[in-house]
Amino acid sequence: MIEGIIVTAVANEVHEAFVYIRGEYPKPARRVQQAIDEAYAAGYLGKGIFGTDYDLDVTVHLGGGAYICGEETGLINSLEGKRGEPRIKPPYFPAAKGLYLMPTIVNNVETVSNVPHILAMGADDYRALGHADDTGTFLFSVSGHVKGPGNYELPHGITWRELIFDVAGGIREDRELKAWIPGGASAPWFVPEHHLDLEITKDATAKAGSMLGSGAVIVMDETTCVVKAAERVVRFFSHESCGQCTPCREGTTWMEMILRRVEDGFGRSVDAELLLDISDNISPGLAWPPKQTTICPLGPSAVSPVTSVTRYFRDELMQHIEQGGCPLG
Ligand code: SF4
Repeated sequence: MIEGIIVTAVANEVHEAFVYIRGEYPKPARRVQQAIDEAYAAGYLGKGIFGTDYDLDVTVHLGGGAYICGEETGLINSLEGKRGEPRIKPPYFPAAKGLYLMPTIVNNVETVSNVPHILAMGADDYRALGHADDTGTFLFSVSGHVKGPGNYELPHGITWRELIFDVAGGIREDRELKAWIPGGASAPWFVPEHHLDLEITKDATAKAGSMLGSGAVIVMDETTCVVKAAERVVRFFSHESCGQCTPCREGTTWMEMILRRVEDGFGRSVDAELLLDISDNISPGLAWPPKQTTICPLGPSAVSPVTSVTRYFRDELMQHIEQGGCPLG
């Protein structure tokens, strides 16, 4: 990652770089700082690097402890010492007006970490990894009801079946797979009937109505109550909403409350349509990629579990309402 930062900085004539790490992750931050200290000691960073007139400083910054600081303009605000609230775009596209209103490049560390490998291997050999539509490797963080949860770096183009059953060992206690979230909590869910043999590329995932996003794959087995799972994801977004936009601030809270009452056995017959109506106010048309009535994509992210449940598990949702509680017990 540090080598990637150096190459990227030289290519862009940049002299200040920041590694922004969530405030809840002090141990990784200490490790990154240690590696940066070693790079300074070895002369790769600092003033007049290796006798040249090129200077580069890298600073580790522990963030504000909010999910929304992962949005690039929220991150920049946080880096400036302000609340991590996303900025309205335009004019705040970071490449034009970023940190301290100076041109700024914001990249994921996974992207930057690939740079030295592309240079060392050569573009053609790097392209030969993965899939013709989506070259190179991707980091999957597989969690949930699999036998082997973990972080796996794999070439694009394997299938979801291979990832969940071969790489992650299959479903715990050999139960049935019910659904999975393919790219972090924001992503619309996938189900085995439609998506298990889909190749994992960004394009194929987008065409199927979701995204690879952060690569955080959350697997749910047959014992999962999808209403409870959706409520849990929506609650997360409701909690993490920065509150600037009414559809996000109010809508995520309403959706959380409705899902909670359905899960608790007090659902109303109108609740499925009510959830979709609120969702449509946050993300008009309920399409993917989402349109938004909000400054940033967090609001529409909370819509994904709702549309997923109403699309693939409407019967289970209605059973909750008609039976006064979870049919799975
Ligand atoms: S969508 Fe939500 S998190 Fe994003 S800026 Fe608006 S209120 Fe904040």
